[in-house]
Amino acid sequence: MDKGNKRKISEENRVFNDTWTESFLFSTDKTGLPVCLICGEKFANNKKLNVARHFQNKHTAFAEKYPDGDERRKAIAELMRKVDRSKNNFKKWVKSANSTTYASFVAAQEIVKHGKPFTDGEYVKEEFIKVSEHLYKDFKNKNEIVQKIKDMPFSAKTVKDRTLKMAENISKQQIQDVNSAVTTPSPVMSPKIKVILYK
Ligand SMILES: [Zn+2]
Repeated sequence: MDKGNKRKISEENRVFNDTWTESFLFSTDKTGLPVCLICGEKFANNKKLNVARHFQNKHTAFAEKYPDGDERRKAIAELMRKVDRSKNNFKKWVKSANSTTYASFVAAQEIVKHGKPFTDGEYVKEEFIKVSEHLYKDFKNKNEIVQKIKDMPFSAKTVKDRTLKMAENISKQQIQDVNSAVTTPSPVMSPKIKVILYK
């Protein structure tokens, strides 16, 4: 086996190294990939070079304020706590939303995922209603079903608002994943935390 191959295989097998949390302020998402505790940026593989470079280029303020030791560990613990809280808050909020709101989130994400304009929501809803009139013709509660679809907020403004809300709460890469975005958002940082860190 030549050197090139060996290198490739060792990179593929790389897993997140726990020391990266303290060194580069990275944690992992549910699939074990690195997520920045400060800005929520996510990487598609566990390469030390990437996480190190990200921290050194983007978060010098943190590195300067907390060079090492107990203070740094305390700041990291606090960050992780806030990321968790923020994750739970969004989860709670989405869960408490009614089914039509929830559905509009899922649908908005599909629109974004396929790179379609926000205005497509209106046409998708219209189609959905028309199709349902026929599809559920034999259902006793057809009217209820159709009414529910009609109640689903899905104007261009709604799609845009939903998308922004999701983008605020999850890392951009995760917008591509409907389920994870709606049920298990990745770590995020509120603007308030960012302000504290960059002070
Ligand atoms: Zn970052």
